[in-house]
Amino acid sequence: MIAPSDDWSPTISKPTKMAPSCSPINSLHVAVIGAGAAGLVAARELRRESHSVVVFERNTEVGGLWVYTPQSEPDPLSLDPNRTVVHSSVYDSLRTNLPRECMGYSDFPFVPRPEHDESRDPRRYPTHREVLAYLRDFAREFKLVEMVRFGTEVVRVEQDGRKWKIRSRNSDGVSRDEIFDSVVVCNGHYTEPRVAQIPGIDQWPGKQLHSHNYRVPDPFKDQVVVVIGNFASGSDISRDLTGVAKEVHIAARSKPSETYEKLPGADNLWLHPMIETARKDGSIVFKNGKVVQADTIVHCTGYIYHFPFLNTNGYITVDDNCVGPLYKHVFPPALAPGLSFIGLPWMTLLFTLFELQSKWVAAVLSGRVTLPSEDKMMEDTNALYTKRDANGFPKRYTHRLGVVGQAEYLNWIADQIGEPPVEQWRSKELEDGYVRLATQADTFRDKWDDDHLIAEAYEDFLRQKLISAIPSQIFG
Ligand code: FAD
Repeated sequence: MIAPSDDWSPTISKPTKMAPSCSPINSLHVAVIGAGAAGLVAARELRRESHSVVVFERNTEVGGLWVYTPQSEPDPLSLDPNRTVVHSSVYDSLRTNLPRECMGYSDFPFVPRPEHDESRDPRRYPTHREVLAYLRDFAREFKLVEMVRFGTEVVRVEQDGRKWKIRSRNSDGVSRDEIFDSVVVCNGHYTEPRVAQIPGIDQWPGKQLHSHNYRVPDPFKDQVVVVIGNFASGSDISRDLTGVAKEVHIAARSKPSETYEKLPGADNLWLHPMIETARKDGSIVFKNGKVVQADTIVHCTGYIYHFPFLNTNGYITVDDNCVGPLYKHVFPPALAPGLSFIGLPWMTLLFTLFELQSKWVAAVLSGRVTLPSEDKMMEDTNALYTKRDANGFPKRYTHRLGVVGQAEYLNWIADQIGEPPVEQWRSKELEDGYVRLATQADTFRDKWDDDHLIAEAYEDFLRQKLISAIPSQIFG
């Protein structure tokens, strides 16, 4: 259950209202790194604001994380810094963990479309393939692909006087340096795994992998598997495994040490507190004293922010997964507005966040909206850190918005750029959706009691003429 008291961010000092100004519009040459859900909408908003945009994308198509591949990395824990990186962390059975109505961009709702195409998944919590199809539709609708340089990886970003130099490498290995007025970083943050520290693990003889490298359950047939982590991926993957594995044991850091529960929806799934130790004889001891002889540990323990291309002479650091200093999670005060980051916060309406942050960056770059002075931005950023520390949250929670704080944050940005606040049905869907995910992990994608929110969402889409009719699948 995600209690409102979990929310500690985001508006820590009263923000200075920055009404859109009447200054003439500056049209800048802007580089966007990444053509996932964040980079695509950033490119759209920057172009709408009259900037010229180049999107660098190392993959051969748009969609980022949602481009599923059966391939995983050769190093199953992804610890080797020189490994061949596979970007996507999507597993074959993945369905969204939020209802589709609240996931889409504001003017391009994520509704079943086209209605009679059988390759599409009309369900409220569709598969990853449907999200990719939606992002392709979005890119096509707004002619975004023409801005993207596919197969081109950004390998270095650094300041060059008042501008920014980008070194990229194409699929033939050819490097190129180019100068831009501004760089918008949208490289995603679900690719570089974080791995749990387990006492005794060096002596433990079993196999380990991170969820980043999990695709299908088949290789775990008849095994005893320990899954570390019980949020979205941990909960999904453990259930995916129950169909083929002998036993699946979830180790959850947040659970009290006496926890020992048989979970519903399968007859071979148990919930434990965290692992106490891993032993040479192959056994795993949980903090509740239970011992299992395990074959594999799957770390569903999250990811770390990683910007291997970024050279700011040490100004921007990633310290215990806090990227900083960043004003409102977007602008590094001393380097703003030339450098900005879209999509760092989590536990929020991500596509809405990408869109609002992108509009803000585009408007700041064009001069329609001004940022506070560097000192004021730094003051605000330090106040956020002070509040985080005073509330006892670790640094790695800096970018976690939470269900209450996220609406406040999104509405603050909306206010900066003269956009309406986020629809209440959208925030409520996120809130209820997370509660369902946490309390009915085996059924939340197919059973709900908030049809009234779906109705509100579709009425809203109709009123804004974003759809011409309510798709027949929606209410049966
Ligand atoms: P990405 O989609 O990761 O895109 C980043 C892009 O940058 C990629 O295309 C990559 O190739 C490119 N790139 C990276 N580095 C470089 C470089 N150096 N040069 C050039 N290109 C580069 N969110 C939801 O809203 N609903 C969900 O149900 C949901 N489920 C999720 C399930 C899983 C398992 C995970 C891990 C995340 C989920 N998310 C979900 C969050 C998801 O990450 C976001 O929704 C969103 O798609 C992320 O978009 P992005 O553009 O920030 O990053």
